[in-house]
Amino acid sequence: MIKPHALLAALALAAPLHAQTAVDTSGSGALITEAVERSEVMGNLRHLSDVIGPRLSGAPAMRRANQWTAERFRSYGLTAGLEAFDFGVAWERGPLELRIVQPFDRAMTGHSWAWTAGTGGKAREGPVVLVDLSTRDSLGRYLERVRGAWVLPKLSTPIWNPDGPPATPQDSGRIAAITAARATLTADTSAAAVLERRQFQIDLPFILQEAGALGTLVDGGKEHGLMTMSGSPNRVSPLPNIVISHEDYTLLERLIQRRVVPRLASKVENKLGGSRVRQWNTVAEMKGSELPGQVVILGAHLDSWDLGTGVTDNGAGSMVVLEAARVLARSGLKPKRTIRFILFGGEEQGLIGSRAYAAAHAGQADSVQAVLVIDNGTGRIVGQALQGRADLEDTWRALLAPVAHLGAATVRAAMKSGTDHLSFAFYGIPAFNFDQDPRGYFHTHHSESDTFDKAVGDDLAQASAVMAVTAYQLANLPGLLPRGLKPGPERIPNRPSQGVAGGK
Ligand SMILES: [Zn+2]
Repeated sequence: MIKPHALLAALALAAPLHAQTAVDTSGSGALITEAVERSEVMGNLRHLSDVIGPRLSGAPAMRRANQWTAERFRSYGLTAGLEAFDFGVAWERGPLELRIVQPFDRAMTGHSWAWTAGTGGKAREGPVVLVDLSTRDSLGRYLERVRGAWVLPKLSTPIWNPDGPPATPQDSGRIAAITAARATLTADTSAAAVLERRQFQIDLPFILQEAGALGTLVDGGKEHGLMTMSGSPNRVSPLPNIVISHEDYTLLERLIQRRVVPRLASKVENKLGGSRVRQWNTVAEMKGSELPGQVVILGAHLDSWDLGTGVTDNGAGSMVVLEAARVLARSGLKPKRTIRFILFGGEEQGLIGSRAYAAAHAGQADSVQAVLVIDNGTGRIVGQALQGRADLEDTWRALLAPVAHLGAATVRAAMKSGTDHLSFAFYGIPAFNFDQDPRGYFHTHHSESDTFDKAVGDDLAQASAVMAVTAYQLANLPGLLPRGLKPGPERIPNRPSQGVAGGK
């Protein structure tokens, strides 16, 4: 015989999903008004980007950003602190000189890929070779050609000149063929294939160094000289790797294809830390009034690359999360569940801060209502990608209903990668990354032009409203959202394979 209240609980469990996810939209109006009419997001973003500056993981500016954001959360009445995690070795960018010395002499602009070595204080000069190092097989075919050379590891990225005539069907066909060929290299998304590709990226510079290469070059891959950046303590390279503009990369490529051998000279000085360091996530909280043990998480990464000042990636998202906290606190509304605000560190180096956070709190995974991450630039939120949770489509339509008039209305079936929501999805937590208006994100992403003048204030105010409203509604839902699949965290290689020079 089931006891009466147990019966109710069973019934509740048996109650249809829409009953558990009946969205209470009250309070939305007040949150929207506070976010749109009294926004503080641009003031905070200006301080973060123009005063604290670029926030490379492991650098003092990142620590300053952690401390400053914690203080801001506290100034809005929330509890806030820093949660440490093991990051890996730190890396410091040093001076870099680069010249093309043949067939003509001219300085070239370049930036070291992060967590890569320098030239040991000496200039290295040599020919440039174009090879295909996309797989272990192709590496085997080209290895003997890299001795004493600077290496272009693949053909350039097809970038159409935006100011020229439009691409002809033949041009589009050629570009599509190159893009399709590249996509086949990462088509296999099985855990084993992903692991092998990551391991190969770690091994490659050690193999090239052993074969006598001087260094490698990266195509900036954007228009008008804009560059990109990446690198990680999980992929430390003993070989210089320098990103140059698409214009210079294609110059070298064309010369080689016309059998004119270009020569480069470069001197690079970077510092690699000798021991592992900690980094921090800034964590703030607004305790729930009825279900304080259940949590809605709003997140964005606070770290950035250092060619610009990390505005669209991801100072904007971080300040939207901070602003959502201010708006909720200022509204006086009391969410039933706790709302937690996390500004992650180490995202650009491979979601290191969010992976560490999710792992450290894995025991509470089943009481996390949802994780909402923003990390697609300065544009307004246009909707949500369901991340494989088709069962939550109606829920998301209901959650976005109060902000649809602000332009956040679309709900689409899509799996989004490359940011911190992934770290939580491994534990079955409903985790999402909002869709945003691109606002030229392709240009600013990891580039020199990722600066405060690119920030769009009205869009960020709208995004703050959307995050505050959806978080508040999720905090007040009658029940917890159903859990997703729990594949468990991925294995992340961080050293060369055995048998590879430098491998242990
Ligand atoms: Zn980002």
